[in-house]
Amino acid sequence: MDVQKPTKKIKRRRHDSSDILFRYAHLLGFGEFHVKFDKETDLKAIIAIHNTKRGPALGGCRMVPYKATARALEDALRLAFMMSLKAAITNLPHGGAKAVLIKPAIISNREAYFERFGDFVNELNGRYITAVDSGTEPADMDIVSRQTSYVTCTTQGGDPAPYTALGVRRGIEAAVKFKLGRDDLEGVRVAIQGAGHVGYELAKGLHQLGAKLTMCDINDIALERCAQEFGAELCSPEEIYDLKADVFAPCALGSTLNLNTIKRLKVKIVAGSANNQLAHIQFGLAMQERGILYAPDFLINAGGLIQASALYVHGDIQKAHEQINNIYETLMEIFERSKKEKIPTADIAETIALERLK
Ligand code: NAD
Repeated sequence: MDVQKPTKKIKRRRHDSSDILFRYAHLLGFGEFHVKFDKETDLKAIIAIHNTKRGPALGGCRMVPYKATARALEDALRLAFMMSLKAAITNLPHGGAKAVLIKPAIISNREAYFERFGDFVNELNGRYITAVDSGTEPADMDIVSRQTSYVTCTTQGGDPAPYTALGVRRGIEAAVKFKLGRDDLEGVRVAIQGAGHVGYELAKGLHQLGAKLTMCDINDIALERCAQEFGAELCSPEEIYDLKADVFAPCALGSTLNLNTIKRLKVKIVAGSANNQLAHIQFGLAMQERGILYAPDFLINAGGLIQASALYVHGDIQKAHEQINNIYETLMEIFERSKKEKIPTADIAETIALERLK
């Protein structure tokens, strides 16, 4: 099936899994999906492989609770598509995929649970390589690695968050250069939504370069740590959209940028790590019309994928650092092209990536 540009929004119908599955499959140009249930461990796993034209599909394993299977499928499909875009825009030798585990209320035996997931990955004979994502840790990938070699981001390689944060920081530097004409971040105010793995590392890097920070999180402990270590000012999760700052960095949830929140923003740049930041790709136009420079999420947050690929393919972390630094140049090219062609940055980035998937 050809990869098509998703232009229409999928209408949501509650609990209609097969409808979600094949409508997304058609719209996003899938691909294959695999489902596994293991009664003993209560493993309910979905692996969505979007594309393997550029190489084996690489993508994290997300384990979160879902109210309905349809939502888990939707997540797997949208995220796998995004992983294809991410690998293509950064020229990695991979296709895109995602594993979604519907988190049970209690995991009575975590070892057995991830061993069965490892068996599932192994059955796909290398078309899918798994890694960490929300809800999973390098220690879980160690368990997976007992059952399959198609895994990366074990405790041997470490956490991808610092690499993701490095890419986001380079992206912010590119956006500040392009939009504000500045080569440094001294005194530039960045509002960071989320003080988790990436938010914390990003705050650290920005603080070292003299940026001023305002941060929010629903986790007070994580937030307090950033206040103490980096002098970050704090605000509530609702206030973050109304803050006067140079940059807004969404590093918590997806789909936070909608017509309501975009209208409230008082920043010149949006550049953060969250996946699927735009509630719909068409909202890139709303940002452009408001004069806000948007750094496309699947490019600026590709540092973790670059690290995961490096660990799996060649083990050269120095090379991964160079590729992550290149996010700066790639973004600059997209910003220039967007300005010249008067097309939103998100559309330009997606078009380039889709071209490379053909
Ligand atoms: P994380 O779970 O460690 O951190 C997310 C933080 O957001 C948590 O501290 C959480 O309390 C906070 N949060 C939740 N709801 C919030 C709200 N309404 N307002 C403010 N804060 C809220 O996750 P992470 O690994 O830091 O990833 C952050 C984002 O970046 C996610 O969207 C993730 O998909 C994306 N991402 C992460 C990586 C990576 O390497 N970890 C790579 C690519 C993309």
